[in-house]
Amino acid sequence: MIETFLDNKDTSSCSGCAACSDVCMAGAIGFYYGRDGGRYPQIDTQKCISCGACRKVCPIGKKPDLIEPNYEKKAYALMVESPELRERSASGGAFEAIATALHSQYDDLMVAGAVWGDDLRVYHRIVPFDERESLKKSKYVQSNCEGIYKEVRRRLSEGGHVLFTGTPCQVAALRNFLKKEYDNLFLVDLVCHGVPGEDIFRKYIEELNKKRGSQVIKVDLRHKVKDLYGEIHSKNICIEFSNGKTIVESGKRNPYLHGFTAGLFYKDSCYDCKFANKDRYGDITVGDYWRIQELNPEYVDYSGVSCVLVNTSKGRQLFNKLEKCEQFETSVDALYKRNSQLLSPAKMNPKREYFISKYKTESFDKLVDSCVKKEKMYKLILSALLPGKFKRNAKRVLQKAKGK
Ligand SMILES: Cc1cc2nc3c(=O)[nH]c(=O)nc-3n(C[C@H](O)[C@H](O)[C@H](O)COP(=O)(O)OP(=O)(O)OC[C@H]3O[C@@H](n4cnc5c(N)ncnc54)[C@H](O)[C@@H]3O)c2cc1C
Ligand code: SF4
Ligand code: SF4
Ligand code: SF4
Repeated sequence: MIETFLDNKDTSSCSGCAACSDVCMAGAIGFYYGRDGGRYPQIDTQKCISCGACRKVCPIGKKPDLIEPNYEKKAYALMVESPELRERSASGGAFEAIATALHSQYDDLMVAGAVWGDDLRVYHRIVPFDERESLKKSKYVQSNCEGIYKEVRRRLSEGGHVLFTGTPCQVAALRNFLKKEYDNLFLVDLVCHGVPGEDIFRKYIEELNKKRGSQVIKVDLRHKVKDLYGEIHSKNICIEFSNGKTIVESGKRNPYLHGFTAGLFYKDSCYDCKFANKDRYGDITVGDYWRIQELNPEYVDYSGVSCVLVNTSKGRQLFNKLEKCEQFETSVDALYKRNSQLLSPAKMNPKREYFISKYKTESFDKLVDSCVKKEKMYKLILSALLPGKFKRNAKRVLQKAKGK
């Protein structure tokens, strides 16, 4: 048998999707933390019966076929109408709109996606529609998918309707695992620039617990705050502690969010992601519609606007049923231009190797500080004092002057 990363030979392209462990009838696959803090599969050769199923299911070894390769994709900018629902969503609430539209047709709908565990790790779980709140907000950490593929298959074979959401590698893994198309399954993949491994987030939280003398009990990595002029900003972190205290920090200064955005500590596989391209494995792809104000000044990206790509006929039927949201169509190229992860993987930060080699032993905050410059406090204050409209107009004038 050819040796692959399942035998721990160059694990760098393994996304950690865990489809191999779900497919293994012998229970021979466990996980260990790799150098980058991500979870990697490991075969127990004593238990393995050499059936080869794990290699066949691996979406890195073989991607699933595209559902409708010649389907003409359509792109949209979307926001759910309710400001409260938008506030509880990562971007414009595309997931809420999609789940609600499906539930109005199928009242047995279950939704599968990433939830926080009590241990502040992220797990893929399948929950009834009424519990969808737990899936909301982007958890910028690798989610543990062990068991989810089997659970989704069980539900589908019983005839139940399932909406599965996840990173593109997880959606591709599910399709390989299922081996056939199900009419009662709806797939939503995210635009994804990468996930940090579980152990990186653990290190950040453990240091914070010590520094604050209290345990972190809740984290929101897409916390939305209103500025002086009532505009919403979605790139903040909110951390709640067991002593009742809460901190809110801008993503430009918080070490975890800042390092994440700078591409400092994603898993190895993310910098060479096999799914950061135009081939999509979900019926619908959702993400942020960055710089949407260039196309429509009524929409402001940092307040939370979703981009939606309709990739299949099933996705189209579903999209046509969305209610209570504002949306407008853009060209697909306009979206590609504003969301580079739909065309290519994230760039590796030049200090990434240094960070990974030191993160286990050095202070997380100091290490991030030494690798990426954080925004100066006076700049943040100045920015908070200026109205968003003024900044957007100034930017437009500058871009015009530069001939962009
Ligand atoms: C790791 C990660 C990287 C991303 N990178 C980009 C990017 O580069 N560009 C971009 O435009 N958008 C990116 N997104 C998507 C974006 O953050 C929003 O999730 C998306 O805009 C949908 O918004 P919403 O308002 O519908 O989300 P919500 O209603 O808040 O729903 C969030 C959805 O994301 C899923 N999810 C949350 N965390 C994870 C996780 N760790 N793993 C798998 N699924 C998860 C949940 O299951 C849920 O369905 C990323 C998301 C994640 C999780
Ligand atoms: S199936 Fe997923 S976890 Fe298993 S080897 Fe392939 S990429 Fe890695
Ligand atoms: S070859 Fe078969 S038994 Fe061995 S680890 Fe892979 S799936 Fe399990
Ligand atoms: S960047 Fe690619 S490999 Fe990494 S989590 Fe996203 S889809 Fe998976």
